[in-house]
Amino acid sequence: MLELNLPEVQFALQAVEQACRLVRQVQAELASQALTKDDRSPVTVADFAAQALVAQRLEQMLPGEALVAEENSQALQAPTGQAAPTGQDTLRRVSGYVQQFISGATRQQVCAWIDLGAGLPEGRFWVLDPIDGTKGFLRGGQYAVALALVEQGQVQLGVLGCPALQAGCKQDANGAGSLVAAQRSRGTWCAALRGGFASGVFNAAEFTRLHVSEQRRPEQARLLRSYEAAHTNTGKIDSLVQRLAIQAEPVRLDSQAKYAILAAGCGEAMLRLPPDDNPGYREKIWDQAAGALVVEEAGGSISDIHGRALDFTAGRALQRNRGVLASNGFLHAALLDALAALGA
Ligand code: AMP
Ligand code: MG
Repeated sequence: MLELNLPEVQFALQAVEQACRLVRQVQAELASQALTKDDRSPVTVADFAAQALVAQRLEQMLPGEALVAEENSQALQAPTGQAAPTGQDTLRRVSGYVQQFISGATRQQVCAWIDLGAGLPEGRFWVLDPIDGTKGFLRGGQYAVALALVEQGQVQLGVLGCPALQAGCKQDANGAGSLVAAQRSRGTWCAALRGGFASGVFNAAEFTRLHVSEQRRPEQARLLRSYEAAHTNTGKIDSLVQRLAIQAEPVRLDSQAKYAILAAGCGEAMLRLPPDDNPGYREKIWDQAAGALVVEEAGGSISDIHGRALDFTAGRALQRNRGVLASNGFLHAALLDALAALGA
């Protein structure tokens, strides 16, 4: 079982659970609002507000710890422009949501909390994707709040809040959602997101242990892939399906919810292959750290597409890796062989 009394575990579970409550509220109220970031991925009020909230909780519960997170407050502080909503409009909304959890939070404080995420990815640090799968969040699909603790390159703790995922791995648009947590050597556990958590008290009885599937036949594998074709290589995935005579169509899902589904035994493999038009893409650590431990502690395997361990000592991106293969473990070698044969 997770060490529920450990301050790190308490912080991670509470922060993710609260961030999930916050982003669900934003989704219900303004899911279609988005700014455009340099890399063109949509960033929403929910992204910023969730990052501010998690960073403030970290500062409060574990002062002095480093945080590496996806967003920074630059876009919110930009001078007022012509296009609506402006950064200032967004900051006003972000602050409004944060104030529901931290009364009296000022806009400057909110920006400062967001910018705590510029910590160095060295030694011991937390890594946060405030909303992984922003596109899924906007279109009513899967998304996750992903938080992990990395120490000397090893993920020690990984928590995924998946508001649209039922504990039984199904889509769960109106239900409780899932809180999936892994601690090194202590397994991967799942609880319903909406439970007795409002008080911050976590009860071991609410968690169920997750295990990967025991499927050993490649043709029976249920593959999970990104919903967005631009985030993977659909041509190579199709070739892999043919080569291994895999019967089921790959399932398209946004975010690290894919790793939670794999950990729960509801899929056998998850593939992230660099797209043909962006072969140099390097995975971001906040897109992988929490999910990687969730898969491993459920008995699965995770590596890059050449079989190398994910190396979390290379900065904000996995510079020494290419793509990701996560599996139930039993099928890992067969999938790596097939990828090599396809020249992936
Ligand atoms: P998914 O939900 O599987 O589509 O993965 C979402 C993540 O993919 C986002 O958080 C982005 O950081 C990341 N991403 C953005 N561009 C690419 C790309 N070209 N290839 C792979 N991943 C990407
Ligand atoms: Mg992400």
